[in-house]
Amino acid sequence: MLAYEKLLLENKAWAAEKVSDDPGYFERLAKLQTPEFLWIGCSDSRVPANEITGTQPGEIFVHRNVANMVVNTDVNLLAVLDYAVTQLKVRHVIVCGHYGCGGIKAAATKTDFKPVLNMWLRNIKDVYRFHREELDAITDEEKRADRLVELNVREQVYNLAKTTIIQRTWQREERPHLHGWVYGLKDGIINPVFEMTAGTHIDDIYEYQNL
Ligand SMILES: [Zn+2]
Repeated sequence: MLAYEKLLLENKAWAAEKVSDDPGYFERLAKLQTPEFLWIGCSDSRVPANEITGTQPGEIFVHRNVANMVVNTDVNLLAVLDYAVTQLKVRHVIVCGHYGCGGIKAAATKTDFKPVLNMWLRNIKDVYRFHREELDAITDEEKRADRLVELNVREQVYNLAKTTIIQRTWQREERPHLHGWVYGLKDGIINPVFEMTAGTHIDDIYEYQNL
């Protein structure tokens, strides 16, 4: 059997099991989606949002990219954010990074990964520069990379707060709350590292009037 054929076979078994446990399962999900959470995570195959949080289909709206970035020119991310916040009315947005992140480690090197990856990783290099003093003081390479993972998650939460999508909703509905988490590949535990409740003030230059 070809590798991808196994996926299709497993899918049939999964669907059959769901229906046998709960005959109305798919009918119900097909009609309505009301997730409470938007998850912005890393594309890394070892960090599946639903599995590590014990949630079911329908509970988390998910966006994933290399190193869980919130880049203000990324139309894909912004469309997901706008839809989740404005239409689905999620109450929480979670940026979840993970220790041992390859994207973060790559950004901390001087390796030329060629144009497209360089463009993406540049955003992480900026985070390094903002926190150079703290990071340079950490001698252990792995610990330094893990701290960069935490600081990067915090910056991405800030990046969410800089958008008019978030600011407009904060002003009108006092949601969503923003969370920065880091998942441990070695122990499976999520470490909450940063939080921003709805309405938090950020640097004045990023705050819009007449939203
Ligand atoms: Zn990663």
